[in-house]
Amino acid sequence: MTTDAGGIVGEFLSLKESTDADVLAMQCGDFYEFFADDAELVADELDLKVSQKSSHGSSYPMAGVPLSELTPYLKALVERGYRVAVAEQYETDDGHAREIERVVSPGTVVDPDGAEARYLAAVEHDDGDDGHDSWGVAFAEVTTGRFHAAAFTELDDVRAELHRFAPVELLPGPGVREDDARLADLRESTDARLTLHEAEAFAPGRARHRLGEQFGGQALAAVGLDADPAVAAAGAVLHYVDETGAGVLASMTRLGGLDAGGRVALDATTQRNLELVETMQGESTGTLLDTLDHTETAAGTRLLREWLTRPQRDRAELERRGKAVEAFASAALARDRLLDTLDGTADLERLAARATSGSAGPRDLVAVRSALERLPELAAAIDGTALADSPVPDVLARPDQGAARDLHDELAEAIAEEPPGSIGGDGGVIARGYDEELDELVAEYEEAVEWLDTLAEREKRQHGLSHVSVDRNKTDGYYIQVGKSVAGQVPDHYREIKTLKNSKRFVTEELEERERTVLRMEERREELERRIFEEVRDRVAAEAELLQDVGRALAELDVLAALGHHAATNDWTRPEFTDGDELQIVAGRHPVVEQTTDFVPNDLHMDRERGFLIVTGPNMSGKSTYMRQCALISLLAQTGSFVPADAATLPLVDGVYTRVGALDELAQGRSTFMVEMQELSNILHSATEDSLVILDEVGRGTATYDGISIAWAATEYLHNEVRAKTLFATHYHELTALAEHLPRVANVHVAAEERDGDVTFLRRVREGPTDRSYGVHVADLAGVPDPVVSRADEVLDRLREEKAIEAKGGGGGDSVDGAETKQAVFDLSAGEFAANVGGSNGKRPDTPAGNGPAVATAEAGGEVPDDAAEPATEPAAAAEPTEAGIDPAIEDVLAALRETNVNETPPVELMARVQEWQEQLDADEE
Ligand code: ADP
Repeated sequence: MTTDAGGIVGEFLSLKESTDADVLAMQCGDFYEFFADDAELVADELDLKVSQKSSHGSSYPMAGVPLSELTPYLKALVERGYRVAVAEQYETDDGHAREIERVVSPGTVVDPDGAEARYLAAVEHDDGDDGHDSWGVAFAEVTTGRFHAAAFTELDDVRAELHRFAPVELLPGPGVREDDARLADLRESTDARLTLHEAEAFAPGRARHRLGEQFGGQALAAVGLDADPAVAAAGAVLHYVDETGAGVLASMTRLGGLDAGGRVALDATTQRNLELVETMQGESTGTLLDTLDHTETAAGTRLLREWLTRPQRDRAELERRGKAVEAFASAALARDRLLDTLDGTADLERLAARATSGSAGPRDLVAVRSALERLPELAAAIDGTALADSPVPDVLARPDQGAARDLHDELAEAIAEEPPGSIGGDGGVIARGYDEELDELVAEYEEAVEWLDTLAEREKRQHGLSHVSVDRNKTDGYYIQVGKSVAGQVPDHYREIKTLKNSKRFVTEELEERERTVLRMEERREELERRIFEEVRDRVAAEAELLQDVGRALAELDVLAALGHHAATNDWTRPEFTDGDELQIVAGRHPVVEQTTDFVPNDLHMDRERGFLIVTGPNMSGKSTYMRQCALISLLAQTGSFVPADAATLPLVDGVYTRVGALDELAQGRSTFMVEMQELSNILHSATEDSLVILDEVGRGTATYDGISIAWAATEYLHNEVRAKTLFATHYHELTALAEHLPRVANVHVAAEERDGDVTFLRRVREGPTDRSYGVHVADLAGVPDPVVSRADEVLDRLREEKAIEAKGGGGGDSVDGAETKQAVFDLSAGEFAANVGGSNGKRPDTPAGNGPAVATAEAGGEVPDDAAEPATEPAAAAEPTEAGIDPAIEDVLAALRETNVNETPPVELMARVQEWQEQLDADEE
């Protein structure tokens, strides 16, 4: 397409060339038009009709929307990921001109009605002088004025924030863009549209200056923001918002940090695995947020989302929330009254942004007024109830009450009770009695209109006419309309202006004079109303911070009441926090699954001596559900909520880490063994003694020996070094043996009953390991042919006989009491454990020739359970006799066995060998 089209299309094309937006909407009179390719695009996307526009001998596709309907179309385009430039038309001395006024993108569309937050984000990276990565992130929401920025050293933290904020548009900084892999990483971590904003906007010096201007010089220090990439990201967001012309900068009054220190670390994977705000399938129904969201307002939903994805570690804050939720849970009537009062309350954070951007209309100010009116109503709903004795009144009292009252009163005085949607027309936006000049004008105007309204009657009387009416339209202005039958009788001073089928229209000089007066007054009234309205709106804009405060307070009441409601109606209980190590959940349930299932509650007990649970049980028995419910109970407690249990005593965790089975993720096409290992690696690096770790299968994405080795070693590391409270569900039945050698490991299993080949899931978590693995049973259930199932059982038994694994207890110096590393060798052919003292490399110690696996005391550290300390009572047959006493045939078998490297021999060959040995031994016996 060339730009020498000329005419209106030419103007469109040259404006389009001047912007990097994807689409241009250009005002042409009462319409916004799209031409050429843009017309085709929007027609396609939005189902608009395309017509043809001729211009300078060529014909161009054209599509348009009326001025008043642009916003929904813009939103729809932007939601599909387009950036849309909007060119407005101006009157000039010689006609009109057009200019691009703003560029609307996913992150800068001001959408006061949508309930969802729409964050714009920027991410910048810096290699750092010391070679250490440093990341900066900033998140802003133009419709509420929210603004947060922070610096991180790990990409994972950036990812966690991206998951939390779920931005719709992201500006990668030059430090990110210069590295393809980094950019790809980022792209993978978000569904946001990536916009390549100009690199200069990220220059730290400029960014710092811009931030200072916006938030005040102290703001950066106040949120501890001095890292360059964070400053760059925040500055770029401001620059972009400014450039795109949304006009909302003024509502961004406060710069918030992300305060990772006081929060529970929740990486993106964990947020996803626990389905906090989005299910693993990307849905919002069936999430924890969805289950708990009984809030009445959009702001309440946003805050609840924030609380759930950003649990707290501040005990005082949690106690405060807990007390408030408790009060709401018990005071049902007061709670309902309060929720009723909140119902329909406008979104003050959004209205504040509309006021500052100058887009708030009369009804927006009425919405502000009625939201402010809720403050005394809410106070009345609380007063004299059980809520009064809780932290609830403090929440309400947080915003400046006096300022809120003043603003409310001013709005009540200034804006009419039920104003029209816009200024102009019949007026009536500004309340009577607010402005003397306007009142006088309105009085005169009404008098003039009264004269016009009664004119028809007077004319009828004076001139004896029937069928007379006085009316007004756009082309004729005011006129006297007389029925045709009497049109001949009109007085001489009537001047005819139009003949219709059944009537004629006349004007008189006096009528024209009055008309001029009325029009002048209308114009003047509109001007005056607009001026006054803008003053009032500016006054509201100046109180943006107050409105944000009130909005936050109302949202918090909404969330606390909603949590109270959920607690009361679902028999939840207030958790107790302990400074110690004890974690005790009595009859815990899964908060989401219990909604739709007849749920079987289960306990969880962990403490200093019992910090690592290996959870076994058949497939589908409920292992994942159990582990997730434990993590969710911990998280709910740390958002201040009640929890689904009969009782819960919980330590404050500093982070929750999860990884779920390769198979679950495989179903979503995102797992590779690499991802699994990256997640594991992240947990092993990041978790601490105060964390809660949920491992739902580890090592499943690779061959059995690899897998079991990794699971084994990870268990030892978590147990000995990290010492995080861990729940580990595994199908490697072999791992259950670890409980005997790692002092803090215990086995639990989800019970199932097998009778006549049928498995009944009991959903009960019991102490101890499962007595068997049910994988083969699942194959059976799935209809795998009988011969295969029974052969699989045989193979399984043989494989068990072939395995030997070591447990390495008490690793790190100050971990488990013993300074020495202890090893135990699990030899399934002997059916026993054996421990070797002193080995530190984790390798199986050499076995003295002819002595078979060493059988020694199985003591690993001082805290081994008694039964594990028992030496093997009945050493395996192969270990006992001396070489001299052994039958040569057996000797041969043993030699062959010793030479066989279990890890390197393919299972099929192993089986064949075992069979061969058995046959040899059988033959020997005969
Ligand atoms: P696993 O991890 O052992 O394969 P899941 O945790 O995925 O098993 O649970 C399998 C099914 O059992 C799920 O559909 C879940 O809803 C149900 N379930 C799990 N635990 C319970 C329980 N305690 N009470 C009732 N149903 C449960």
